[in-house]
Amino acid sequence: MDIIHLLPDSVANQIAAGEVIQRPASCLKELVENSLDAGAKHIHVIVYDAGRTLLQVTDDGCGMSETDARMAFERHATSKIAQAQDLFALRTMGFRGEALASICAVAQVEVQTRRAEDDYGTLLDIQGSQVMRQEPCSCPVGTNFKVKNLFYNVPVRRKFLKTDKTELRNLLTDFYRIVLVYPDVQFTFVSDDEVMLDLHPGTYKQRIEQVFGRSGSNPFTSRMVDLRTETELVSIHGFVGKPEAASRNPQQYFFVNGRFMRHPYFHKAVMNAYSGMLPGELMPSYFIYFDIHPDLIDVNIHPTKNEIKFADEQAVFQILMAAVRESLGKFNVSPSLDFNREGEIEMPVGMTPADTAPQVRVNPAYNPFKTRPMDATPQGWQSLYAAPDAAPDAATLTRESRIGRLTETDLTEEQPGTLALDIDSLEGRALYRYAGRYILVPTDEGLLLVNQRRAHLCVLYALYRDLLTHAGQAPAQQLLFPELLSLTADEMTLMQSLLPGLEAVGFVLEQIGRTEYSITAVPSLLTDGSAVSTLRAILGEVSRTGSLPQDEWERRIALSMARETAMPYGKNLSDDEMRDLLTRLLRLPAWQYTPDGQRVTYLLTLEQLNQYFQ
Ligand code: ADP
Ligand code: MG
Repeated sequence: MDIIHLLPDSVANQIAAGEVIQRPASCLKELVENSLDAGAKHIHVIVYDAGRTLLQVTDDGCGMSETDARMAFERHATSKIAQAQDLFALRTMGFRGEALASICAVAQVEVQTRRAEDDYGTLLDIQGSQVMRQEPCSCPVGTNFKVKNLFYNVPVRRKFLKTDKTELRNLLTDFYRIVLVYPDVQFTFVSDDEVMLDLHPGTYKQRIEQVFGRSGSNPFTSRMVDLRTETELVSIHGFVGKPEAASRNPQQYFFVNGRFMRHPYFHKAVMNAYSGMLPGELMPSYFIYFDIHPDLIDVNIHPTKNEIKFADEQAVFQILMAAVRESLGKFNVSPSLDFNREGEIEMPVGMTPADTAPQVRVNPAYNPFKTRPMDATPQGWQSLYAAPDAAPDAATLTRESRIGRLTETDLTEEQPGTLALDIDSLEGRALYRYAGRYILVPTDEGLLLVNQRRAHLCVLYALYRDLLTHAGQAPAQQLLFPELLSLTADEMTLMQSLLPGLEAVGFVLEQIGRTEYSITAVPSLLTDGSAVSTLRAILGEVSRTGSLPQDEWERRIALSMARETAMPYGKNLSDDEMRDLLTRLLRLPAWQYTPDGQRVTYLLTLEQLNQYFQ
């Protein structure tokens, strides 16, 4: 007896359907993509019970002829081969012409469709791949798909569906990934008679705004900056969130050639660009659109997964990271703290200091020539900044002159209400120290609490960054008894690339063996005997990840140095020391958080204070 027989089509389709249609969201995605392929400008989605009982997509696209409507549900039926630029691109899309066949294998489908040139349309009723009814009907131009009782004939799949709440979230997640790429198309999404989304044609920015709305009175997009870069390899545009808008629940999207993709490696590029700017666990939102020649990507992984392989991922990584950095720098919002103004106070997280020239908003009343020069301040606490004072033209003065220059040129173009670094007003203000850790500064907005070690860390970090970028020469302190640093072979290679940077911040190292260095001088801020541990900390910091761009090296060296040399807790500062520390801190473009994201200052508002006494 022969035992081999062909599976009936309906069963084969059901099995194949499992790959393409896993849940209502995948069904919605296929239908909406078809509508877009059909050139629709208006697409309406209606779901009941998160798409379980009904999932309807209506479009005003090109519609189908009677024969095409019937054909469309056959496996491998597609009208899109002709459109494909080349066979390669076609092959890589995968699952061509399978979506409708799959959907109708696992649901009860009703479609009404009409082309503009036809007087009447076609109605088709299909259940589990069987055509139950086909007849002419009157309907508008376009296509109206109703998918009812999804998985009615596949109980196992039905059981695997999550709660309505979760499935609705899945539907919206997949829907967002489409609507964010087609800002010129109108979409609505109605769930159980409730309008969830009503999106009008507009720009990308407006689309994002419409989807993610406002938080309070704050439009979502006001907390983003533009991103744009064109290279021969790839062009990138989109938006990235300002650091101060980072949240625990960020919106993060990559699209390539109009399709959503997941890309953990590029995600890292974006995060690298933010490094040092984000407080704690918070993450930035981003919407980044790549355009790249199809030959340079490979989407042939699995159509329901969203991974895409790029031919030259490292190059794109660098381009992306640089672009994000630039955007964040260009639109950097300087932190502002106004000691004399009533009202709301902004406490945004700013940039790491040396990433960009600081953009300082200027107080018109501020006179740069009135500013006390740094070295006219009394002696004593200068030991806190041995390096800048010994090398006065490094960080401090550059920064000071930048502020001065900005003041002179910007005086006339002063925008109302943008006052920032009013350092002068610190002059007569009483400062208080508390617990060897905090400096308390009474301001009109409230009590400003400053963590003094972290403040010092920020100031030193900026200083080291400046020394590194300008290849400065920090004052070094000769060691009477050189310390010995023994390294492993891979640490050796790392060390060789680190040497110029280490010299810039004040180390003098001589190689004495194949894997040994003698440390003959150290940055003058370093406490005795800590040279080896500091160098080890730096090595550890830079070796944690693979190859790093120059900028990131410098950042990490500066950060380790700042950590090692910042004043310890418990140091009791004099009034002048506190004032000087604050002055230097406030002069930085970013001072609310340390470069590694720890809070430096906290403003306890009068309102909060009053609440304690209610
Ligand atoms: P594919 O999209 O890969 O071609 P599908 O199974 O999703 O495969 O669709 C099969 C065919 O049905 C499409 O190629 C298209 O010609 C037609 N079609 C599907 N949906 C629509 C629609 N909303 N409007 C017009 N034609 C459609
Ligand atoms: Mg399709």
